[in-house]
Amino acid sequence: MAQEQQLGATGDGLTQEFVKEWRDTAYGCFSSGHKFCREVCPVMQVTRNENHTPTAFHANIVAMEQGGLSVADVADDYIHCTQCGACELRCPNTLFTGDFYRNRTRTVEVVKAMRALAVESGVEQPQWKRWVELTDDRKSEPVLNGTPVTQEHVRDWAEGLDVPTGGETILFCDCEAAFYRTSVPRATAMILQAAGVSFGLMNEQWCCGGPMAEMGYTEPARRFAEHNLADWRAAGAKRIITLDPHDYIAFTEDYPGYFGDDFDLEVVHITELVAELIQQEKLKLSNPVPRVATYHDACRLNKRKGIYKSPRAILRAIPGLTFKDVDHVTQWSYCSGAGGGLKIERPEIAEEIGRRRIARAAELEVDTVVSACPWSERPLAERGGELDDPIEVRDLMELVADAAGLDYGGVPV
Ligand code: SF4
Repeated sequence: MAQEQQLGATGDGLTQEFVKEWRDTAYGCFSSGHKFCREVCPVMQVTRNENHTPTAFHANIVAMEQGGLSVADVADDYIHCTQCGACELRCPNTLFTGDFYRNRTRTVEVVKAMRALAVESGVEQPQWKRWVELTDDRKSEPVLNGTPVTQEHVRDWAEGLDVPTGGETILFCDCEAAFYRTSVPRATAMILQAAGVSFGLMNEQWCCGGPMAEMGYTEPARRFAEHNLADWRAAGAKRIITLDPHDYIAFTEDYPGYFGDDFDLEVVHITELVAELIQQEKLKLSNPVPRVATYHDACRLNKRKGIYKSPRAILRAIPGLTFKDVDHVTQWSYCSGAGGGLKIERPEIAEEIGRRRIARAAELEVDTVVSACPWSERPLAERGGELDDPIEVRDLMELVADAAGLDYGGVPV
């Protein structure tokens, strides 16, 4: 059957356009059929529901092309993804062709695109809709502890730290850290100051927009990106430092997609920069931190961006710390459950993913789980606190500041 005839069976123009764009990716999965991805998928590990597998996410598109399913039929399936990227790494199509052809199966993008199609088609999820409306209204995400989230308070975390506005290097502070985990940006800012790195804050920082794009709300996500880019340009920025992996993904993947070559700013994640500062001896870590810790690889750093060496190099440079590592490949299948909006729309599944992650850490007989992702730290800390022998969750920058003898204050987990 001609492709045009097949597409004719899929209903409206939006769906046809979507199927046309994603059919080759979908058939790449459908014709492979190995399903190795199922066992590393943190959602599938919990629900054991075939509709929640990366395989189903691609097979649905094949069925839509044949006119057998509609957007309304499949929208619920695509809620069940944290956009961790594990399935992409485990896919034989990536493994057999990735190194030579630089090919990677694109499940995360498929999920984002299907969610966007659902929103455009009027099939919305109530909690995501509410979350995006609140973000759009307040310009930062509505973090969940009752803290007022307003532009007026977006820089409160930096009180007393003497951080200027603007400059060539901007420190971007994510919404959870700005309003809830304030000890993380305070520790980060003090580390940069101690190492002699000049930086400033934005004049008016809005959410990066990444989570809205992940939930399928591309219009406000792009609008927020345009605002942030204009703010950076007005500040004379050339480099953006991120302390949250979700921001790093938004600035290195979404923003170049929106702005093309016009997006010419350097984006650096804090773990890469701090590892370099330690190696260059610009940052001295001499205070012992007597903990037995393991490291939680943030999905968006390890699986999505291949950043796994710098956090480990930092942990090994902290005096007094016993670091019990798990190799980063094993950690492909670990996730906190906090990403991709899953916790907002399906909190019970996200909590179980977090519980299993902490249980894996407990097997290593550690007292601390170290993360470099503020959004993972509150859910993991809640699960860690439920154990008979509680496990504390700390941010990597907090431990670095402890080792550097910096008194950062703020609100820890
Ligand atoms: S990105 Fe992660 S959560 Fe989503 S389907 Fe792949 S493995 Fe599962």
